[in-house]
This record gives sequence, structure tokens and C-alpha cells, in this order.
Amino acid sequence: MRLACFSAIKIKCGSENFNGYPVCATLERHIPMSGTKDPAGMGVPPTYVRRTPLTVLAGGLRLTAVFDGLLKSAFDAYRHVGAAQLRQALGPMANEDAPWTDSNCFVVESAGSLGLIDAGSGVHLDHTAGALSNHLTDMGIAPGDIDYVIMTHLHGDHVGGLINPDGSRIFPRAVMHLHTEEAEYWRNAPSGVAGEHHPADLTGMALRAYSDGAATFEDGREILPGVKAIHLPGHTPGHSGFFIGEGPDAVFIWGDVIHLPEVQFARPDITTVYDLDVVRAEESRRKALTMACEARLKVAGMHLRQPPFGRVVRHRNAFAFTADEIGAAPRVP
Ligand SMILES: [Zn+2]
Repeated sequence: MRLACFSAIKIKCGSENFNGYPVCATLERHIPMSGTKDPAGMGVPPTYVRRTPLTVLAGGLRLTAVFDGLLKSAFDAYRHVGAAQLRQALGPMANEDAPWTDSNCFVVESAGSLGLIDAGSGVHLDHTAGALSNHLTDMGIAPGDIDYVIMTHLHGDHVGGLINPDGSRIFPRAVMHLHTEEAEYWRNAPSGVAGEHHPADLTGMALRAYSDGAATFEDGREILPGVKAIHLPGHTPGHSGFFIGEGPDAVFIWGDVIHLPEVQFARPDITTVYDLDVVRAEESRRKALTMACEARLKVAGMHLRQPPFGRVVRHRNAFAFTADEIGAAPRVP
């Protein structure tokens, strides 16, 4: 039954070609559009926002990157770097007033189960994000098909896609998996602690909606067959990454280790106002980057640009990222 989901992708996509990616017949629906129908009018490069899900094999599991859309942050949300420097580094991915941040989620298909890693913004944040539900529909996946949601952390741009405006569940059967410290922190967090862009009440709603049967994990735990957690604290207390699969084609999904790839690979000291503990966030970023290049891991991130798969190399104290060439990543037939 699960395979049928993915053969639906094959039917819908692949008749045309967009820079090497299969293009869906329903391409227009992939424009992030929880609200606006004119993302270009908001300063988003119009060709950029048209991204189809990209499936790779990860150690025997199928892993699909789904573009949830773009989030507008603010230049002063980044520490140790000025607005002019950011504007220059980001080029078209910045407006006069703010940088655009990519937002990605991942669909994991393992033997007999189907799940998500993070769920994007849903209808709760910027109108240029929240495309996950449309992508899932196009992939032939109904909300009731999702068996689990594994969370890197509980900021609004990761949990918003889990809940309707009234706070009810979107995925009726899904078991939420989250780090023990993440659950503890947000259950006790004062309102508004996460800042304007990540309202704590949204996190609270998601946590309440999925508390029944929720499962916690710790560093090193194999959450499900082939999905192993690594604790990368700092951005939030329980922020975690995941190793998907094993062997040479395993993928290291590192969550929010990087928010702005144009500057943070070269300058891992650049932190954001969304990091609840900036010292530990920087430590975790350096740890993840070092691990990725020493083990030559394929990495994926929630805020990497499209396509969000690639490799990390080190240049003394700085790092650099090479995204998989568009069209070069192995796709599942
Ligand atoms: Zn995020």
C-alpha cells in the first residue's frame, strides 16, 4: 500500500523536466501558498519557489525532501553579522528588509510504515510557507496514512503543519516522537518565550494535540528501525538530528543546525535570536559540521536551500557546503 503512494509520484511527475527534476503536472500547486497566490509579488524569485519533492534512497529507506516554502525573518535576527553583509551574501534570497529562509520537511518510508520528520508551518506563519499538505496530497498520501512524526524540535515552523487553526490534529493516527528535554522544556515554557516568529502557544497547541501516546527519545536512541537520534542542543534544549539508514547512502538530517547557508558554513559563530542557548547552539553546529565532513556523510537540513541534500567540507575553521547537483541525486524509480 505504501508503495502505491510512491508510484503515484511517478505517474504524476516525470513527463517534463525542470533543471533535471521531474516536474509534476500539477506544478502550480507546489508554489508555497497557504495564503498568497503571488509569492513573486512578495519578492520571492518566482522560479525558485517551484520545487517538487525529491526522493532518495537512504540505507534502504525512502527519504523524500518536501519543500514547505519560504519564511521571512529579519536581518537583526542574526548575531555577529550586519545587514549589509547578509544582503550581499544572500543576493536574491534577501529583500531590502529581510532574508528568506527555506523550510523543508522529510517523508520517511520504512518497511510497513510512513512518517514525517517535522511538519513545516501549516497555515500558522508566513503565507509563503505551509506547502507540506499540498505536497502530501500530490504524493498520494492522506493524513491518516502518517504513522509517526519525529520532531527535530518544537518551534512553530516545524510544528505548525501538525495542527489545524483550532489546535486539532491534522494527522489523526500519528505518534509524536521528541527528545525528552524538548518535551520537558516546552511543557513548562512561559508564553512567548520563543519569540514572535515561533509563538510558544503554537508549540503548546501542537504538544497538547499529540500528547496522547507521544514517545520521548534520548541521544543515540534508535527511534524506529533505521532512524537514530543525535542530540544537538542549543537552538532548543532537545534539538536533535537523525541518521536515516546505514551505510554509504545514509543521510544525516541535522534539523536547524544551519539557518542561513550562505553565511553559517563559513561563519559557524553566527547565531540567531531563535537559538535559546547561543553557546550550545554554536557548539552543536560545529559538532554536526565536523561529523558530517569527517564521516563524509550526505546531509540534509530543514533550512538548507533547494535541493536540501549535499556534503560538507572543511577549510581550517570554516566549512563549505556543496549541494547535490540538481538532477544528480539518485531518485527512486
Ligand atoms: Zn526552524
